[in-house]
Amino acid sequence: MPNKNPTIGIIGAGPGGLASAMLLSKRGFNVQIFEKNSIPGGRTSEIKLNNFRFDVGPTFFMMKYILDEIFNQSGFKSEDHLNFLKLSPMYKLILPDGKPMLIYDNYEKMQAEIIKNFPQEKTGLKKFLVKEKKRFENLMPILQHHNNSVFDALNFHFLKSLPHFSINRSLFDIMGNYFNNDLAKLSFTFQSKYLGMSPWQCPGAFGLVPYIEHAQGVYHIKGGLSEISRQMAKLAQQNNCKINYNCEIKEIVFENKKAIGVKTIDGKLINLDDIIINSDFGYSASKLFPKKLLKKYSPQKLSKKKLSCSIFMLYLGINKQYKLDHNTIVFAKNYKKNVSDIFNGQLPDKDISFYVRDTSTTDPNLAPIGKTPLYILVPVPNNTANIDWQKEKSNFRQITLDALKNRLNLNDIEEQIEIEKIITPEDWEKDYNVYKGAVFNLGHQLRQMLWFRPHNHFEETENIFLTGGGTHPGSGLPTIFESGRIAARLICQKYKKEY
Ligand SMILES: Cc1cc2nc3c(=O)[nH]c(=O)nc-3n(C[C@H](O)[C@H](O)[C@H](O)COP(=O)(O)OP(=O)(O)OC[C@H]3O[C@@H](n4cnc5c(N)ncnc54)[C@H](O)[C@@H]3O)c2cc1C
Repeated sequence: MPNKNPTIGIIGAGPGGLASAMLLSKRGFNVQIFEKNSIPGGRTSEIKLNNFRFDVGPTFFMMKYILDEIFNQSGFKSEDHLNFLKLSPMYKLILPDGKPMLIYDNYEKMQAEIIKNFPQEKTGLKKFLVKEKKRFENLMPILQHHNNSVFDALNFHFLKSLPHFSINRSLFDIMGNYFNNDLAKLSFTFQSKYLGMSPWQCPGAFGLVPYIEHAQGVYHIKGGLSEISRQMAKLAQQNNCKINYNCEIKEIVFENKKAIGVKTIDGKLINLDDIIINSDFGYSASKLFPKKLLKKYSPQKLSKKKLSCSIFMLYLGINKQYKLDHNTIVFAKNYKKNVSDIFNGQLPDKDISFYVRDTSTTDPNLAPIGKTPLYILVPVPNNTANIDWQKEKSNFRQITLDALKNRLNLNDIEEQIEIEKIITPEDWEKDYNVYKGAVFNLGHQLRQMLWFRPHNHFEETENIFLTGGGTHPGSGLPTIFESGRIAARLICQKYKKEY
């Protein structure tokens, strides 16, 4: 007979754990979060360098309606707590040939940009929006369902949606349905990097990601996206959730296969009825479970999984304003080679792809007046490539600064750096507890999606639930929030509480 007043422990105050915490505490559960850091958010938290403020990770916020729903279901209204800024243009692309292209969610403006850059591509955008809307409408309900077993597939809705998975077709290939020019296709496929994948490997089903951008837009949150984590933590506490900061969990305690609590690094045992794991799945499976307990996700099996790429991050406090677009994405001149190097474990050569965010005009409070917090993200191989980052770090920093000079004309950038911080793939693994530094988690190959991905009601043990980018539905803030909601719903079902 389940306990009528259960205590739910959540390992990690990342976006997934916070979503579960808000929802479960609103429904009367005793919820306790254990967070190793002194602030919430994990990869969605903030780095402060002097008076410069940077988001650690996410900078593109999409599918606002999912967050709105989670706030509503927790008794709050998102607009009362967060200041959303819809970006127009959403971003600027610097294509491999060096030409700039602005990307809008407004149809007329986007069509004009396409015609300006690719005069032959007159009908592609309309076709893309019509076709990919159908994919979105068919696949979203499946992504929002828990998919704990293959039997979840045996329903009419899933079978009807099968063609929308575009099995055996890549995202790049799918864009060939709409555009002939390879550069036009690239401008609708680089989003695979959000999943840590190459456009030539990423399943065609993810055509829904560029669709979501073009149909619904991309947001910045004033104060940075870390503000979402701060507000969610505050509101979960208002709903009586207890957050224990500076509280690292060393292991989950079991009686046979039943989880009964957690042990902190200072040896304290905390009894719990159920545990939601929000810490990175690969890290948690390899470090927090007793040895030999896991079979499907044993260290050997885990090491055979496909992982996302990693990221080299450069956070620069700059003494002036360059007034770049809010988001700029620069493709390597030989993008295909760059992507292939990253996914074959080679450190990219000087011809890198990178992304820069400049908030100095859109959100001036993130730096002193006249200065800029410049966020630079460079996709690189994950730690299965065994790159010695202690050795490579300073050279790769220079490659990145040279690319900023050469591709964006920031010629004086080195003289303008007031303060800086680097995060390498080794740091993601060591400081952020990210398995192999694969920041976008397990890859999103179809054979690692849906019920092939670790289940939200974890299949290997009792009393354990999963949220975060390593579980279903996948990496990226909206799907991570959704995983937190699915885990909360499954716990409500277990205790027969109304959701
Ligand atoms: C550089 C970068 C850019 C990104 N950009 C975007 C973007 O633009 N848009 C988007 O939608 N997504 C983006 N993402 C992906 C994703 O949204 C974020 O990584 C997100 O924060 C992941 O959420 P999570 O809940 O899975 O895990 P995390 O954010 O990692 O949260 C896990 C939490 O668990 C804690 N923890 C770990 N181990 C323990 C332990 N033993 N005991 C206690 N606590 C522990 C951690 O401190 C952390 O707070 C980006 C990611 C990165 C790294």
